[in-house]
Amino acid sequence: MSSPNEPLDLTLDGGALTARLVDFPSVSGEETALADAVEAALRAFPHLTVDRHGNNVVARTHFGRDERVVLAGHLDTVPIADNVPSHVEGDLLYGCGTSDMKSGVAVQLRLAATLTEANRDVTYVFYDCEEVEATRNGLGHLFATHPDWLAGDFAVLMEPSGAVVEGGCQGSLRADVTLTGVRAHAARGWLGDNAVHKAAEVLRRLAEYQPRRVEIDGLEYREGLNATRIDGGVAGNVIPDECTVHVAFRFAPDRTLEQAEEHLREVFEGYRLDIADASPAALPGLGLPAARAFLAAVGGEPRAKFGWTDVARFSAHGVPAVNYGPGDPNLAHKREEHCSLSAIAEVEQRLRDWLSR
Ligand SMILES: [Zn+2]
Repeated sequence: MSSPNEPLDLTLDGGALTARLVDFPSVSGEETALADAVEAALRAFPHLTVDRHGNNVVARTHFGRDERVVLAGHLDTVPIADNVPSHVEGDLLYGCGTSDMKSGVAVQLRLAATLTEANRDVTYVFYDCEEVEATRNGLGHLFATHPDWLAGDFAVLMEPSGAVVEGGCQGSLRADVTLTGVRAHAARGWLGDNAVHKAAEVLRRLAEYQPRRVEIDGLEYREGLNATRIDGGVAGNVIPDECTVHVAFRFAPDRTLEQAEEHLREVFEGYRLDIADASPAALPGLGLPAARAFLAAVGGEPRAKFGWTDVARFSAHGVPAVNYGPGDPNLAHKREEHCSLSAIAEVEQRLRDWLSR
């Protein structure tokens, strides 16, 4: 294990550089040392201009091309779970952040260092605090403070996607359906009005709800509307006067946030509904010229992204974006997190082809 204070050596291959980054702990909120190292490493290259805001580092080429693409990745990880330093077993590199997403960051750094000529201008974005509450998200801060640094025709977010292009992302709405009644002693129930019983109709609507499957740009998105929790009841001898059904609506990117909310209000018509949390979906935009060229270069069958990722932030600013990274999404945040070394090399090579041909 090399000391975190040694400079980053961007001539290492993608796997070795990933290991180096994993051995450089950067749990959310503690990215300063890694951001310093990334900034210092990138400043060594005359073909890049480097800007920094907080622990967010943005490096840009100025080749004078017609098109500019953005490669973005977060520097932070979830808390370490006895899985640092990294170690290799066969083709697998184990350790916190191997999949999510220091392997993607290593590919970004390799490309930034070596693509001294490219067929497109490239913006490399390294940001902090992705794994914590949205208000701390470094990409969000950059869009708020320096949107010009993030301008581009197309963006690739190098989150773990198993080296498969994952288009767009579903939106998420959490809402509370509140039922009210009249509190009374259970011995004289006729004097009350039971709010918990009223949840039956809300649950019936949820149970009978037929979620849509929507095809957008050739990708199938599957929506879902589910109760996630119920709160209600006062005591064993009291007719309850309030009950809340918490629902989660994951929706396809052909609905705006407003349309998704409107749909929920239709489903629960006649009931009080309060939105608890809302994140917009992102359209895959795979039909756009920049995205088509990307797909043609990296190959493979794209699929829909079901979780919510920062592609939605690019999409909200008019930059179509996809997820494409070497990590395995099913291993993210796990103690046994690992990444295939060959996938790291493959993703780097495919992006290099896309940017070189
Ligand atoms: Zn991630």
